[in-house]
Amino acid sequence: MKLSTFGRRFTAHSGILELMDDLGSALAQDEPLCMLGGGNPAHIPGVERRFRESLEQLLGNGDAFERTVGNYTGPQGHPQFIAALANLLQRECGWDIGPENIAVTNGSQSSFFLIFNMFAGHFDDGSRRQILLPLAPEYIGYADVGLTESLFTAVRPRIDRLDEHTFKYGVDFGDVNVAATTGAICVSRPTNPTGNVLTDEEVRRLMTLASAHDVPLIIDSAYGMPFPHIVFADATPFWNGHTIVTMSLSKLGLPGIRTGIIIAREEIIRAIAGMNAIFNLATGSFGPALVTDMVRSGEILQISRKLIKPYYRSRAEQAVEWLHTELAGYPFYVHKPEGAIFLWLWFPELPISSQDLYRRLKRRGVLVIAGEHFFPGLEGEWRHQHECIRVTYSQDEDSVRSGIRAIAEEVKAAYDSRPSHARAG
Ligand code: PLP
Repeated sequence: MKLSTFGRRFTAHSGILELMDDLGSALAQDEPLCMLGGGNPAHIPGVERRFRESLEQLLGNGDAFERTVGNYTGPQGHPQFIAALANLLQRECGWDIGPENIAVTNGSQSSFFLIFNMFAGHFDDGSRRQILLPLAPEYIGYADVGLTESLFTAVRPRIDRLDEHTFKYGVDFGDVNVAATTGAICVSRPTNPTGNVLTDEEVRRLMTLASAHDVPLIIDSAYGMPFPHIVFADATPFWNGHTIVTMSLSKLGLPGIRTGIIIAREEIIRAIAGMNAIFNLATGSFGPALVTDMVRSGEILQISRKLIKPYYRSRAEQAVEWLHTELAGYPFYVHKPEGAIFLWLWFPELPISSQDLYRRLKRRGVLVIAGEHFFPGLEGEWRHQHECIRVTYSQDEDSVRSGIRAIAEEVKAAYDSRPSHARAG
């Protein structure tokens, strides 16, 4: 088949395709797999029950269901949901916003396609701009959404070792260079893949940099506040006219209804609505209809804080404990789990690459993601990229337990294959 440049670009191998393929085939298999690779949120019974009740209410409420599924919404998205959300964000976060500052999309992934290509790529005056990722590693899903090549430029982080087996990345501001070629700055907070939460101070500095250079700071809040609030560190949710905050219903437990949210100044929201009309006609209204009452009443905050956050927090603590048991005596580091649903493991001087480790584990039916996929835009070779893996701890306990055991066995075997590196601490 003869494909256009667009066709070739978006059918080429991509990390996100490998990830979603692994996820899809793992879910379709009869053989039990330890699926520690994908970003699927956990099935939390109390939360699922609440969504089921909400659907029953929708079905029982006159013709509400028929109106929800039988009508297109406008391209900005479900108006009652948008109004309720604007109100919640004013109340809860103190943000000075109204419905004109919010657009709905068919998932954050499609939000990023629109936003990144809107602020980076080729410009009419012949110039080119890029999205600056001030702290790599960053979310694998960003890597391939560019309509043009080299959409990203990224900065290596500072590595702070907190104890013998824990570290945290920090933004290395000395290397963050906002240039004329920067179209926007972007961070995920909490960060996928690392579970890092940028400190308030780091976000404030990035906001100052963004406004000084008149470019937007995009804060990907897929796991953030005020919902689903999978944040274990002290952190403030920020927004101002120079900021674009993206949210999603996925990590609440609703990835199947594909609902993303963009919060930005009015002209950006109008542009998003225009692009929604071209690409999608309208956005899905099922997700918004399911949660509008919970947003209006604030119940969505209680669900997030009382059910979702504690669930992931205890799962993270448990997974870290298992790692410490299984890898005792070997040189491993875990990024401090401050949020999101992943552990980011670093094996300094690992004699095999993280891609080899991924393959060895896949053969044993354990799926993780090799670290090197999470550095879009980072130039130059950096060994650290090949020494890390991302492990999801949201799946059932038995899978996580046996997956961690298998990871430890493979890692120990790799270190042991080079006696001089093994058991270095
Ligand atoms: N941003 C981050 C940091 C993510 O981890 C994900 C999904 O895993 C997304 C965005 C995309 O979420 P969705 O398209 O389901 O809203």
